[in-house]
Amino acid sequence: MAQQIADRRDVDFVLHELLHVEELSEHEIFAEFNKKTVDLIIAEARNLAIKEILPTQIDSDREGAHFDAGKVTVPESFHRVWELFKEGEWLAMIEDPKWGGQGMPRAVALAASDYMNGANFAFMMYPGLTHGAGKLVESFGTEQQKELFLKKMYTGEWTGTMLLTEPEAGSDVGALSASAVKNEDGTYTIAGNKIFISSGEHDLAKNIIHPVLARIEGAPDGTAGISLFIVPKIWVNEDGSLGEPNDVVCTGVEEKMGIHGSATCSLSLGSKGKCRGMLLGEENKGRLPAPVRPTCMPSIMPASGFRVGIC
Ligand SMILES: Cc1cc2nc3c(=O)[nH]c(=O)nc-3n(C[C@H](O)[C@H](O)[C@H](O)COP(=O)(O)OP(=O)(O)OC[C@H]3O[C@@H](n4cnc5c(N)ncnc54)[C@H](O)[C@@H]3O)c2cc1C
Repeated sequence: MAQQIADRRDVDFVLHELLHVEELSEHEIFAEFNKKTVDLIIAEARNLAIKEILPTQIDSDREGAHFDAGKVTVPESFHRVWELFKEGEWLAMIEDPKWGGQGMPRAVALAASDYMNGANFAFMMYPGLTHGAGKLVESFGTEQQKELFLKKMYTGEWTGTMLLTEPEAGSDVGALSASAVKNEDGTYTIAGNKIFISSGEHDLAKNIIHPVLARIEGAPDGTAGISLFIVPKIWVNEDGSLGEPNDVVCTGVEEKMGIHGSATCSLSLGSKGKCRGMLLGEENKGRLPAPVRPTCMPSIMPASGFRVGIC
């Protein structure tokens, strides 16, 4: 029986008849993504999803991610698919080839990943989180940080996470208590406990790069005093080589409905006082500046009779 994880006709309709994605190839940046190439990408994605990713769904659900004394193992079948994922360069399809991406139009990448997400969403959490964490490094990192981390993350050699949530800080992330203290060498000593961390620990990759929200000592309360840090599971030296394991300990994996194969971890940072991080972006930028309110409503100011804006 044909396996329908995403309807081929729907995908073709949206890409070609609705969006006319092939017209993007008229732009220099997408010149190689003509209709033939787009169709090839979609066919390959569908093939990988149905033949390789979909069969891991059973192990993913029944075995799930397994926690034992600080280590987390994913189902064995994930390892083969992870290698195929890396070989096919599927992790950062839309990103700059300079950093290990494929420079693909987002619409095409979304169609390709729709097949893969439909095949095993729990597995897809690992590349998904990695791509997001890489994007943080790309957007806010220094040139040195990009050189150290980005390519390894976008190619799946290392994976990534996001460490926001704490036992007392979920939706209200400004209530977090993870702390950061600046060291003489410019790094920060990080301490705190994070929960519900997707892909927080696993055995798919040699290193895991954790973007961590924490408050530098003396910073304001609430979101205004939050800063972002790169905390590698294994420290990365200035020459790119791996250093000492960092003081990041996985204390458990959540049991939850569905997505059993995705390791949702609790992590303890700095329980031995030795968790090191490097600042990503600027200090205390957790709160965005107040939005400049557009004067969108067509309005006449009575006193002056001046029309302030229409949109
Ligand atoms: C499968 C899974 C994976 C996750 N992965 C990650 C991850 O990788 N990294 C990470 O940092 N976190 C992760 N999280 C955590 C997620 O970000 C939090 O669950 C989320 O921020 C909500 O926080 P909470 O669970 O503490 O719920 P609470 O904040 O306690 O909210 C509970 C309920 O109260 C409601 N509520 C909260 N505040 C208000 C308000 N002011 N007004 C009205 N209603 C309100 C919420 O909508 C919700 O229904 C994950 C969670 C899950 C379930």
